[in-house]
This record gives sequence, structure tokens and C-alpha cells, in this order.
Amino acid sequence: MSRLAVVTGGSRGIGAAVARLLASKGCRVAVVSRDLDAARAAVASLEGDGHVALSCDVSQELEVKAAFQEILQSCGKITYLVNSAGINRDGLLLRLRASDMRPLLEVNLMGSMLTCRAALPSMLHSPGAAVLNIGSVVGLKGRAGQCVYAASKAGLEGFTRSLAKEVGARGVRVNMLLPGFIRTSMTEALQASTQLLPIPLGRVGEVEEVAQAALFLLLSPYVTGQALLVDGGVGLHM
Ligand code: NDP
Repeated sequence: MSRLAVVTGGSRGIGAAVARLLASKGCRVAVVSRDLDAARAAVASLEGDGHVALSCDVSQELEVKAAFQEILQSCGKITYLVNSAGINRDGLLLRLRASDMRPLLEVNLMGSMLTCRAALPSMLHSPGAAVLNIGSVVGLKGRAGQCVYAASKAGLEGFTRSLAKEVGARGVRVNMLLPGFIRTSMTEALQASTQLLPIPLGRVGEVEEVAQAALFLLLSPYVTGQALLVDGGVGLHM
């Protein structure tokens, strides 16, 4: 049976591109997002058979538990877990309420912790098993107006490196991608203003370009605990 990849946030944007690339390489993909119709539509566009769509809010412990139980029962052991589900909510810290901050930490940080905890028992000692978390160049470099988002992604980086140490000896690699400005619905509002940013490659990135880097990290058997910038060089100037 072909390898099973679970992609959270796989219904659109970066996650959907990773799901498409993995399916084109022969993986079965479980696409997870809150909107089941969107996850189903993403699955319908994937090459090959055996893909499934699930509705799950990754910040909700019980939903995550139930979704992964369903995946394991209906699809079998997980080889790849890609945590792309994420949200952003920009604003200067002095203007943010705690109720604006919590969802960022709960989805971007706790969400990946919960999915890793749910998936890992089936991944331990499984050939080629790998987790890929999607962080951000902003987590590494910081950006005014994105304090909480940056904190969630920087936290994810510490989590990634620590988990890599916890599970490496049991055959699971854990890595992270740090995208820069990528053309998705998340950055629609930002795209005009990024023209002002000095991106050495001179353009916003495309989701397929992030997916290529994701495939590299998922398949590289001697790479773990790493955070790879996929940012057209923008981090050089931040
Ligand atoms: P999109 O907004 O295009 O897609 C986000 C995906 O996450 C959707 O599938 C959405 O589905 C899902 N999602 C959001 N919240 C939840 C939740 N609570 N539970 C489950 N699924 C959820 O974003 P991008 O593709 O642009 O971003 C993907 C990742 O990349 C994010 O982690 C983001 O922070 C990161 N990133 C993006 C950059 C960019 O420039 N685009 C730059 C740096 C990092 P639904 O709404 O149905 O739940």
C-alpha cells in the first residue's frame, strides 16, 4: 500500500500544493481543514486514489483525537504529517486583546503539537516517517505588527527542534519550512505592500515552490531538526 500523508490546512494555499505534489508522487493523502466541503474539493483534484477529506479544528484536542482515530482506522499507518494549518491576525501589540492573541497560539502552535501527539504513535519505527511543520520567516526575524504570529511560529521552531531530539532514535524526522511571502489567500491583503519589501528574487513566492522544498525535507533521510527558509531571500533584509 502506498505511503499515507496527513496534511493539515490541505484544503487551500501551501497545504493544498503539498497535498497535490505528494499525491503526484504516489502518496495517499488525508486532507484536514475545518471546512469539510473545501477539504473534499481539494481531495477531488488530487491525482491517484485512496485520498480522504476530514473536518477538524486542529486547536481542539477532542476533534484532533477523533480525526486521527478515523484516519488510522480507515487509511492505516501514517508516514508523513505536514502541519500547514495556520492563521494570522496582524496588529500592533498595544492594540491587541488577549482574545485576538489566543487563537493564533492555539491554532499555529498548539494545533501542531496536538496533531503530532495524535499521529506519532503510528509513525514510530515506520520507514521514512517524517513530520514537517510550516513556520514563517517572521518567526525567525520578527516583524512589527506580527508579534503574536511571530511568537507562535518561533515557538513552533523550538517545538520542532525538541521533538526531533525526542523521536529521532525512533525513526521519525521532524523539520520545518519557513516561507516568506507566498501568494495565497492568507497574504492577499499583503501582496500589494510586498512590492515595497526588498525580496532579492524580486517577486512573491508561489505555493508550488514551497511544496518542492516540503518534498525535499520529507524525503531527505539524514535531515532532522532543521528549519529551511523558502523566502526568495527576503529574510536577508529583515
Ligand atoms: P491559507 O489561509 O491559504 O490556508 C490555511 C489552511 O489552514 C486552510 O486549509 C484552512 O482551512 C486551514 N486552517 C486554518 N485554521 C485551521 C484550524 N483551526 N484547523 C484546521 N485547519 C485550519 O494559508 P497559507 O496556505 O498561506 O498558509 C499555510 C501555512 O503557511 C500557515 O501555517 C501560515 O502561517 C504559513 N505561512 C504562510 C505564508 C504565506 O505567505 N502565505 C508565509 C509564511 C508562513 P479552513 O479555514 O477550512 O480550516
